[in-house]
This record gives sequence, C-alpha cells and structure tokens, in this order.
Amino acid sequence: MIIVLKSGTSEADVADVERRIRAMGYTPHTIHGELRNVIGAIGDDRGKERLRALESLECVESVTPILQPFKLASREVKRASTQVLVGNAVVGGRDIVVMAGPCSVESRWQVLDVAHRVKAAGARVLRGGAFKPRTSPYAFQGLEEEGLKLLAEARRETGLPVITEVMEPDKVDVVAEHSDILQIGARNVQNFSLLRRVGEAGKPVLLKRGMSTSIQEWLLSAEYVLAGGNPNVILCERGIRTFETATRNTLDLSAVALAKRSTHLPVVVDPSHAAGRPDLVLPLSLAAAAAGADGLLVEVHARPEEALSDGAQALRPRELRDLMDRLDPVLGAVGRALWRPEGARRAALL
Ligand code: PEP
Ligand code: MN
Repeated sequence: MIIVLKSGTSEADVADVERRIRAMGYTPHTIHGELRNVIGAIGDDRGKERLRALESLECVESVTPILQPFKLASREVKRASTQVLVGNAVVGGRDIVVMAGPCSVESRWQVLDVAHRVKAAGARVLRGGAFKPRTSPYAFQGLEEEGLKLLAEARRETGLPVITEVMEPDKVDVVAEHSDILQIGARNVQNFSLLRRVGEAGKPVLLKRGMSTSIQEWLLSAEYVLAGGNPNVILCERGIRTFETATRNTLDLSAVALAKRSTHLPVVVDPSHAAGRPDLVLPLSLAAAAAGADGLLVEVHARPEEALSDGAQALRPRELRDLMDRLDPVLGAVGRALWRPEGARRAALL
C-alpha cells in the first residue's frame, strides 16, 4: 500500500506511522519527497486492507494499493526518477552516462591501455569482466580476483569508476571491494540468493535483463535488490532471444521506454550484446538514446581480433569516440546531453 502523508508532517509523525506499519506486519519504506513524504508498506498482499485503518490518522492523506506487482521499483510509490551516483557521474540525470571497456580483463597492459582510451573518448565508467559467465566451460573464464585487482589499478590510474560482474553470493564482498557498480549478468537475473546478497552490499547494482525474462520478471528481480535495502539499482536492457538469428539478440527498446514509465530506476542499454556485431552498435546506441536510455554499456577493445571474449562485437576506441560524436545531436533533440572531456568533441562541431 502507498501511504501518502500530508505536507508538513513532522518527523515524529512519520516515525509513528512507520511504527504502526511494522506493528501490522509490514515493512515501511519512506520516500522523502520535495512536497510530501510517502511511505510504501511492503509485505504479504493478503491482509493489506488492514493498512487502510491508517487513513484515520490526522497526518495521513490517503492509503491506496500499489497496482504493480513490483512495489518499491514502481513510479506509483516514487514519482521522481532515481539518480544513482557513481564516482562523479550521475546515472539517471540529464546527461547520459557511457560505460565502456573490454568484455574481459585479459592482462594489466590491456586493461590500463583501454581504460585511458575510453576515458579520452568520454566514457565515465570503465567496464571489464573478471568473473565471466561463459556458455562453454572450456572458454576463457576470466582472471577472477587478479582481474579485480587490475580493474582497481585502472580506476586508480584513470579516476574512472569501475563496473564488473559478480556471479556468486560469496564473491559479492570481494567484487564490491574492488569496484563501484556490481553487474548482475543476464544469466543471473533470477538468481534470487545473489539478488538478496547484492541488496545488502552497499554498492550500486546494474541488473541486466535476462535473455528470456519478461519486463515484469526483470522488474521483480530489481525489487529483490530494493527490498534488501539497496536503493541504487540501474536496469540494463541487453537484447532478448527471439526467432531472429541475424543478430546475437533482439534489442527490445519497448522495454526501455516502458521501464522508464513504470519505474523510477535509471535504464541503460547494452548495444554490444544485443547486436553481437560492431557495425550495429552505433545505430542501436542512437536509437537507445532517442528511446530515453540513461546510459550505454559498450564493449571496447584496442585489438578486437585478439580479444579473449566477445571480440566479434567490440568497438575500437576510435569507433567509441565516433559514436559519442554521433550521439550529441540525437541527445540534443530529446533534451539530454553527454559530458565529454575537453578536445574529445570533433565531428559534432564540424
Ligand atoms: C557482459 O557484459 O560481458 C556479459 C556477459 O553480458 P550479459 O550478461 O548481458 O550476457
Ligand atoms: Mn561480453
């Protein structure tokens, strides 16, 4: 249920309503808005009607059911868009945030070199996998903890915050120690023990949509993280499985537009895993920006032909810079912008 409090309600009254909600067996999640406070009472749907009794309190304006099955993620509970702070970048604000880097961390030289190059192109976050979810057990599985240390070194050298995937609950602490955003991969979107664990991690979480999960299932997975106490969730659409085989996956831009409407969470798009080929990364990125994406997660490798994973879809650093130049006018048309370092803006100004 959503309990809307009257404007000007005192902190003591808010605490009193929260206490009453707990006494009825529900968990209060209070959202302090500019005009008024709203409390989401989360718990078993059966018996929620009892919460209507709170309407008789002087400070309560209304008690209404949350219609969506995902509660804390819903815009019904929180109308203002959530902004997730990562380093000095804001995901979910006016600027769209580009996160870029290799599929996998392969060596110290490779990750440091590409980190500098994506930074020069204007990326705000460095991506790189240390624990890799590979379809074949014989494929490169990632440098694991050594890879995390290399990412942390690249962060120190460039100042770029780092996003990397965590696949198992008992690795959450070590991944969180070396990174700034915990990526939950498409294959783990319904790994509920992992979702609960990252809910307690105190670091932003980027939750990829699974290749066969519905939008509702994806948002309910986000709900696990929010309900675990972590409000900093970024959704990521990375393409779904369809009958089409010409692309690696099918980028579902409807999901981006819909998630932006039905939730307050930022939504980013991974055009690399959607397309599976580098020449489609640019048009899919432009389309994602036009559809309202708050950021892009792009695979970039200095020498894609030598990459240990996903080289076939990686952009070269100069292609990332071109992509950023081409994004500028599209973002301008939809009232968004892109932060670029001095000197990086070329084609857009010509
Ligand atoms: C990745 O980002 O390299 C990755 C494995 O992505 P996904 O989980 O979307 O397949
Ligand atoms: Mn990859």
